[in-house]
Amino acid sequence: MKYYSTNQQVEPVSFQEAIFLGLPADNGLFMPEEIPSLPSSFFDSLDDLTLPEIGFEVLKPFIDGEIPDTDLKSIIEDTLAFEIPINRIKDGVYALELFHGPTLAFKDVGARFLARSLSYFTRKKNQKLTVLVATSGDTGSAVANGFYNVPDIEVVILYPSGKVSGFQEQQMTTLGGNITALEVDGTFDDCQHLVKQAFLDEELRTSKNLTSANSINMARLLPQSIYYFYAWAQLPEEERKEVIFSVPSGNYGNLSAGLIAQRMGLPVKQFLACSNVNDTVPLYLWNARFEPKPSVATISNAMDVGNPSNFVRMLDLFAGSHQKMIHSITGYSYTDESTRDTIQKTYGLTGYILDPHGAVGYLGLMDYYRNNQGTGIVLETAHPIKFRNTVEDQILREVPMPGHVSLTDLEKKSIPFSIDFEDFRTFLLNELA
Ligand SMILES: *Cc1c(COP(=O)(O)O)cnc(C)c1O
Repeated sequence: MKYYSTNQQVEPVSFQEAIFLGLPADNGLFMPEEIPSLPSSFFDSLDDLTLPEIGFEVLKPFIDGEIPDTDLKSIIEDTLAFEIPINRIKDGVYALELFHGPTLAFKDVGARFLARSLSYFTRKKNQKLTVLVATSGDTGSAVANGFYNVPDIEVVILYPSGKVSGFQEQQMTTLGGNITALEVDGTFDDCQHLVKQAFLDEELRTSKNLTSANSINMARLLPQSIYYFYAWAQLPEEERKEVIFSVPSGNYGNLSAGLIAQRMGLPVKQFLACSNVNDTVPLYLWNARFEPKPSVATISNAMDVGNPSNFVRMLDLFAGSHQKMIHSITGYSYTDESTRDTIQKTYGLTGYILDPHGAVGYLGLMDYYRNNQGTGIVLETAHPIKFRNTVEDQILREVPMPGHVSLTDLEKKSIPFSIDFEDFRTFLLNELA
């Protein structure tokens, strides 16, 4: 299987090259040349397969032998070493709980798979890698956790000082080892800019073998298709006919992964693209105009994206046709006020505690149900404890701490940094192992 660039200006590459490069040189995004259909025997046996077994069948055609089956199996088992259950909220409405991993958000799935795949290839090549990642919070924690103690890979995380939650900061800064956290005196955009400059610096790029772990990497996207199949398999048989996936979205990686699952044969009636007021994609779905704009801060902050990078993948999947896209995807956008209100009402009526991102997805599904029916699955992308202040203000009780997370009082180890590129460059060249 080769991976082409959506801009078509570079030659297609192997899976290994695609995940080491992250981005093609022509600034497009990688896409698999073919999206294979899974055989009907796979769907017939879904009920009997475990989550990692489903994962193996879904990913195998994309990896296409570049990682031998036995290694791929163990990478997937290791990646998906936690539950991804569906939880019934009320009639016709389920939450797909993607937050049972170590950093309590769906990004664990992609980050863990990327770390293990990169490590498989570096071990074979006897090569060292430096992963750079700029984060506004969730990506940094998932990447730190996913890459922790992975041999031959150094990870440098840049996060804006004072602008991530205490929970996120702790997950990024207390591990140590191969994880270095730089606390940048600036915004997320400043962090992103430093990373981009580093990639443009030829000496740095080659001497440190730089690579990126942000969400446009193929190895983060593909494993996210797995849980769409697994969610479907968990539904009672009579509810599998008209399945709707409601996807709270920011960069639209999760939604793109769902579309890939559908192309592989998963019967999905409709996808709902649900955003906060950063509504670039819903607006496109409504009026066929794609107009990126600066992002606005909201309470569902992991979706504060004004120029969603995976939109080009969505477009690619529908051969550039707005008409085709709206046949499969309906867009919705919500304010913080209605998000808060939904957290409160859903808890009051059903006892289910939504996080602000899941609440946006839940709102979309409720609006869709005004004129349509089916079985809705809302992707619950983060545990409500990650946004506990916002959530507790609405439900007026404490959000229970999930059992597998220990908020230890390990020491924060971050290095204060300015937004000066020369400092960053010197640091990477001279102080990193
Ligand atoms: C990253 C993130 C999102 C957005 O996902 P995309 O794949 O970028 O659309 C939604 N919710 C949470 C909690 C996230 O961390």
